Amino acid sequence: MKPFGYLRARSTAEAVRESSAHPGAGFLGGGTNLVDLMKLGVETPDLLIDISRLPLDQVGDTDNGGLRIGATVRNSDLAAHPAVRTRYPVLSQALLSGASGQLRNTATTGGNLLQRTRCPYFQDTSKPCNKREPGTGCPALEGAHRDLAVLGHSEHCVATHPSDMAVALSALDATVQLHGPDGERTVPATEFHRLPGDTPHRDTEIRAGELITEVVLPPRPDGAGSLYRKARDRASFAFALASVAAVLSVRDGRIEHAALAFGGLAHRPWRAYAAEEALRGAPATGETFERAVDAELAAARPLRDNAFKVGLARSLAVDALAELAADS
Ligand SMILES: Cc1cc2nc3c(=O)[nH]c(=O)nc-3n(C[C@H](O)[C@H](O)[C@H](O)COP(=O)(O)OP(=O)(O)OC[C@H]3O[C@@H](n4cnc5c(N)ncnc54)[C@H](O)[C@@H]3O)c2cc1C
Ligand code: SF4
Repeated sequence: MKPFGYLRARSTAEAVRESSAHPGAGFLGGGTNLVDLMKLGVETPDLLIDISRLPLDQVGDTDNGGLRIGATVRNSDLAAHPAVRTRYPVLSQALLSGASGQLRNTATTGGNLLQRTRCPYFQDTSKPCNKREPGTGCPALEGAHRDLAVLGHSEHCVATHPSDMAVALSALDATVQLHGPDGERTVPATEFHRLPGDTPHRDTEIRAGELITEVVLPPRPDGAGSLYRKARDRASFAFALASVAAVLSVRDGRIEHAALAFGGLAHRPWRAYAAEEALRGAPATGETFERAVDAELAAARPLRDNAFKVGLARSLAVDALAELAADS
């Protein structure tokens, strides 16, 4: 491993200042992704700025009935928080479907959002990879891509985003609060992660030196239920082949509010706007759910070995919507 410096930040301002002063620095949350990638030689920061002791570890109500989640809140604490379990079960379920108990005890909200792809070529420095080294190529296009993208990919990268939590945040219309050298700004979770295009080395819209300080959830839509479903190769300790976060409310047999996001299918959580359009105002029936999900997945462009993911995502989404409708 390359030698690096270590600094424990005493304030958000100090963390941002030090990060701006050291272009090769990285923030250290729980370290469960960053330190692994450092051991592999994929990430090579000169300086680790430890933000895990900053006072960003609280979960609290907003004035309008939403929820504010500090960037260093641990995944286990967030999943177990009573407000999350009762008002935003999709978020609790997404978190609990990820990693393992030990990892969730360490992983933070900010680090989870910024975890990097699990594409095997990205993690292997003996292989070319446009995301790791722009312009070197994408061996996954013709190589091992069973677990990779079916939506929104490009000839430069077919990686998927690995976070379960981020999929729930997308369906919940969360916002990400950032503090950087130029001040504070807010980015909707739906726009925080990027599609690869011809710049796959950029996973998100975060700018140099910016720190995630918190994630804010809007109030739960009236009467809406929510859930997260994930298909994977093993029952635990495995990333999503496909997953879905669904939020639904039904009144007098018709769909009032619908939000749907897929995980495991694209370079970012895939918000299913075409499906939502087809759901809104329609009767809450199995036929509606199938038609809506098909409208979304018509955009899928599977690679040689991963067409199975489209059918998997379809089943997960149709079943999730039916379950929510039955409970409403
Ligand atoms: C075996 C294994 C299985 C896993 N399975 C799953 C799974 O099924 N689903 C899933 O979603 N995840 C899974 N994970 C990934 C795990 O959820 C992430 O490693 C974890 O969430 C990262 O959080 P962290 O705080 O440890 O991040 P770190 O490793 O500390 O940081 C990750 C990145 O975020 C940056 N960063 C951290 N905090 C901030 C901040 N506040 N502002 C700006 N930048 C920041 C760091 O600089 C770094 O680039 C798995 C991990 C392992 C090792
Ligand atoms: S899919 Fe993306 S991350 Fe994987 S090898 Fe290609 S460029 Fe690299």
